[in-house]
Amino acid sequence: MFYQSSRSDDLTATSAKSILEGIAPDGGLYSVKDLDGVGFDWKAVLKMDTRSMAVKILSALLPSFSEEEMRAIVEAGYHEKFDTEELTPTVSVGEDTILELFRGPTSAFKDVALSLLPRLMVASGHKCGSTDEILILTATSGDTGKAAMEGFRDVPGTRILVFYPYGSVSQVQELQMTTQEGKNVLACAVKGNFDDAQRGVKNIFGNALIAEELKKNAIRLTSANSINIGRLAPQVVYYFKAYADLIQKGTILLGEKVDFCVPTGNFGDILAGYFAKELGLPVGKLICASNANNVLTDFLSTGRFDSRREFFRTESPSMDILVPSNLERMLFMLCKDAAQVSNMMASLKSDGVYEVPEQIFNRLTDIFWPGCCGDEGTEQSIGEVWKQFGYLMDTHTAVAWNVAQQYKKANPDHAPVVILSTASPYKFPEAVLRAIGESKGKDPFDDMEKLKEVTGTAVPKNLSGLRERPVRHHDVIECKDMADYVVKMALKKAW
Ligand SMILES: *Cc1c(COP(=O)(O)O)cnc(C)c1O
Repeated sequence: MFYQSSRSDDLTATSAKSILEGIAPDGGLYSVKDLDGVGFDWKAVLKMDTRSMAVKILSALLPSFSEEEMRAIVEAGYHEKFDTEELTPTVSVGEDTILELFRGPTSAFKDVALSLLPRLMVASGHKCGSTDEILILTATSGDTGKAAMEGFRDVPGTRILVFYPYGSVSQVQELQMTTQEGKNVLACAVKGNFDDAQRGVKNIFGNALIAEELKKNAIRLTSANSINIGRLAPQVVYYFKAYADLIQKGTILLGEKVDFCVPTGNFGDILAGYFAKELGLPVGKLICASNANNVLTDFLSTGRFDSRREFFRTESPSMDILVPSNLERMLFMLCKDAAQVSNMMASLKSDGVYEVPEQIFNRLTDIFWPGCCGDEGTEQSIGEVWKQFGYLMDTHTAVAWNVAQQYKKANPDHAPVVILSTASPYKFPEAVLRAIGESKGKDPFDDMEKLKEVTGTAVPKNLSGLRERPVRHHDVIECKDMADYVVKMALKKAW
């Protein structure tokens, strides 16, 4: 299976090259037209443990790697990183199922993919015969940055530089990044929102002069954002895992449909659900849950994407995104026409808006059900679910919970619903406390303590230890200075 740029049929790449480069040279995303050629035996993997599932699925999606090579990457990448051997457990809450994706080293779902990406990246470098140092450049809305820094920390042959929006991530998220240890990691705040930071990073990737300058110094830039196919592929696994759990629990019979509700920002998590569906898994609707930044709700209800709108800072900051990158991959898989995608993206760049043809819109409507909920609904859902079921959700999961209930109401003959839970409530302790009717303390650590006392739940170790850690990263820059900053830091020998 070959990948190609979503904007050009001429730019093809093996899966290893796609991972190593992160983004295609024309700014497109490495994509596939369909997964028909994979010939995947989806029923066989349902009987496997999570890691074996991962080996099968990942070596099918990333055929540069043999199953044996993938087995080594998966075993080493997940070794003692997650709370449980099954990595991503499911919990029944009322009539719904919650898929907990936050049991990894930084308490966010990004850990599932970012525990593997560094190893995939280094191995891809070897496969492509590259001896250059790999410099990871990543924009984060809060959680990717930390998970990526943790994943790449002290991995030989790599360095990682993370940009996050100044003042727009939660205090806990910021501290997680600014206290990160490792000789090869750097975090820098940017005065702008996530979209500004993401645009800045994309512009740097598209800048041939920078690439040349770094190449002279044997440095290669690449991305750990979900625009990298190596980020997307590991996320496909937990859809299979959740489905297998539902069979085991007797909720469904093999072959019956399951609806998945996904708290969505950059469209990476939910796109992995579409990959699972394309591999044969009986996925019913993919419910796309947005917060007040509901650009996707509007797009999936009208077929017109319009990013020209007010940006809101919400209590679910990892979803505060107005230009979801992975949507481009979805469009490519539906229209299978790079020129058409290229035109839509050009229109997005020049006018902030594009429209999909009716036939594509109809396909989107078949696959997705869009919904949104603001901060008020988010807190209400956290409070209700805590009171009714004794289950504590974080703010992102709560958006999905809220939208899932809207979906069920509007579709009484729905399939069993799995709600993807993307972060620990302890990452957003102030909002969660408020939602369950408690007042906040003097700082996030106070809040965590209080949340623990009031709910009797456990604080994840990586978060409770934050208070003692010294802040190591202090830089704050203007968006316009991002490129200069990258070059300066790249050429600096020791960080
Ligand atoms: C990143 C993130 C999301 C959004 O996932 P996308 O793949 O960007 O759509 C949702 N919740 C949390 C907690 C996240 O960190």
